[in-house]
Amino acid sequence: MSEEKKTPQSLPAAPAGEVLSTMRDDGSRVWLRPRISAGRFLKQRAVVAWVLMALFTVTPFIKMGGKPLFLFELATRRFIVFGTTFHADETLPLALLMLTTGVAIFLMTALLGRVWCGWACPQTVYMEFLYRPIERFFEGKHYKNPTRHEVPRWKVAAKYVVFGLISLHLANTFLSWFVGVDKVFLWTQQSPFARPQSFILVMATTAAIMWDFAFWREQMCTLACPYGRFQSVLLDRGSLIIGYDEERGEPRGSKKRLANQGIEAGDCVDCNLCVTTCPTGIDIRQGLQLECIACTQCIDACDAVMDKVSKPRGLIRYTTQNLLEGLPKKQVRPRVVIYPILLAVFFGGLLYVLANRADATLEVLRIRGRTPYATLDSGEISNLVHLRITNRTDQAETYEVRLIGDGRLITLQFPLRIDSDESADADIHVILPSTAFEGGRRAIQLELLAGNAIVDTTNKTVLGPLFANK
Ligand code: SF4
Ligand code: SF4
Repeated sequence: MSEEKKTPQSLPAAPAGEVLSTMRDDGSRVWLRPRISAGRFLKQRAVVAWVLMALFTVTPFIKMGGKPLFLFELATRRFIVFGTTFHADETLPLALLMLTTGVAIFLMTALLGRVWCGWACPQTVYMEFLYRPIERFFEGKHYKNPTRHEVPRWKVAAKYVVFGLISLHLANTFLSWFVGVDKVFLWTQQSPFARPQSFILVMATTAAIMWDFAFWREQMCTLACPYGRFQSVLLDRGSLIIGYDEERGEPRGSKKRLANQGIEAGDCVDCNLCVTTCPTGIDIRQGLQLECIACTQCIDACDAVMDKVSKPRGLIRYTTQNLLEGLPKKQVRPRVVIYPILLAVFFGGLLYVLANRADATLEVLRIRGRTPYATLDSGEISNLVHLRITNRTDQAETYEVRLIGDGRLITLQFPLRIDSDESADADIHVILPSTAFEGGRRAIQLELLAGNAIVDTTNKTVLGPLFANK
């Protein structure tokens, strides 16, 4: 058989020294067509996958207090998480939110290994439970032939049409997490010429999704995904992994053949099913590898073989490196002590910051290229101050601004009405007597009022003459 005609089943999976299981020595790609292995884990993963796909589709439609449950509006740098709006300038809550999420991922990985990759990552979920089944449906018994010469062309074309339609739907769903479902609906009803940028965005996202699921596939997990790259530092010897029991399985091979050589065979019959079912093309019998996304397909494949040869299940199973090496299960693992402490600190901090969050913020913006101050006919000193006010409440609000202490304000743009979660800029003039300045400077304090309530205060140093005119 020529190299080109080889099926994935006949190709060796990541022999020692090979860089990738999906690359031949000449650098060409090995197209994987993993065999599906029915089993208890596949059934459970299918349920989880369909629940997650439903959640991904439905969540953008869910509102909480009139706002989307989640919205990551990059254009306006506004993020809504569980109905709470964060603006990009809220560095502390955003930093705490990111730290909480990051440490939660670290903890989950330390305890449960790559459970995210195998059970919940959109790449795995959509690839294994939507795109791959569609491919199998169209290509039938020829599915495992990577050259696909025997599959009628119309079937291959039909498959790509269905892939395209699903990718278009996913692109719209994906974008609705970032621009809101209402905007996406509007775009779909308009001509592409009405909003060419939006049309290009949807088409580019569709093309990226199509390319990923139709062509890029497992390369996303093995080459591109940063989370996958971090596994070697996130896992330790007590983390849950999918492992092959070498003690029990080796020496592998036909019982009869090994007996003829005077060797007592292990439980592995060397059927290679755990390799041909692997979506990343690795052989788990070579030990834990970075490419293993913990999809459990090799467990299902091997359990079925063990049932057939009347051996106990679990030659490949969920385990830990310590357990595989016969070490005790319970050992103190510093990271599973440190991560929960960090998680409690960051999450507690986030709750505290959210509970004490101001309903509105008053910021003083820098003004460039203007005269710092002006002397009025009255002899008073006038400073122009540029303000930004952000309404962080769920309804529109009207604001006033007030100067604490001596002096007065000219506030032509106030009272200022601002919609929920919106910001508005306004200029005010701070008028102070020329005697108010020391060394040409004067610290002032401004208060922002909503009705009679003070919602924020800010400080500013304004400039004046070095020596007052008496
Ligand atoms: S499926 Fe099980 S028996 Fe077959 S090769 Fe893999 S480990 Fe061995
Ligand atoms: S080795 Fe097993 S669990 Fe890991 S990716 Fe391959 S089939 Fe999935």
